[in-house]
Amino acid sequence: MRKIIVAGNWKMNKAFHEADDLVFDIVKHIDKNGANGVEVVICPPFPYLELATDITENDGVFVGAQNVSNQESGAYTGEISAMMLKSIEVKYCIVGHSERRKYFNESNQFLSEKVNICLKHEIIPIFCCGEVLEERNSGNHFDVVKNQLTESLFHLEAKDFKKVVIAYEPVWAIGTGVTATSEQAQEMHVFIRNLIEENYNKRIANDTSILYGGSCNPQNAKELFANPDVDGGLIGGASLKADDFYKIIDSF
Ligand code: PEP
Repeated sequence: MRKIIVAGNWKMNKAFHEADDLVFDIVKHIDKNGANGVEVVICPPFPYLELATDITENDGVFVGAQNVSNQESGAYTGEISAMMLKSIEVKYCIVGHSERRKYFNESNQFLSEKVNICLKHEIIPIFCCGEVLEERNSGNHFDVVKNQLTESLFHLEAKDFKKVVIAYEPVWAIGTGVTATSEQAQEMHVFIRNLIEENYNKRIANDTSILYGGSCNPQNAKELFANPDVDGGLIGGASLKADDFYKIIDSF
């Protein structure tokens, strides 16, 4: 059975006290109302991860990092390792967000190393894929996503691939207020699931959680999540306001 996941990517936002308040608010809401079978994940910036893992302990809310080094340890100034994340009980890590690809030139090959190191340290990668607008307009979106998955994920053995969560995030929808239509999301999610079946098997394809990300908000979440192959969302802007984030969680 695949998991339904709603993950909040806070990006580079919030001061310490604001982060503290937001984690508390989310935990309070889940304690009071439950999460309706949804695995709730919050991905704050690095300095707040330990605060988040402390507050969320035993509360049905899990913590993810937004990035990880491709290296084990050593002289890599400014980097954060998978071992460090694991040691503060971080469960997930976003890998391959389009902002990392664009601003930090992270290639599919480089991202495959991050996926490997996460899995080695028992951290679940939330692997992001998705096309830019020109690629969609020229009809190349399926090839782009296939290439991203092939070069970053499909080298994995089945036993490791099974642990990965995929987030389809069309780049033109991220932070733009333009959401993929329900049909566009479902179509790409089915395409991804079929690729997984071709590379592994039907059971693994059925069991893989494929999230949608890109301007998902309380108004459109219900329609997007109603699709049979959309197993939740990776939420940017709307995860920064507790009320919006709950409404998205409650859309299932
Ligand atoms: C994201 O950054 O992963 C994202 C989906 O952002 P937003 O929801 O703001 O479009």
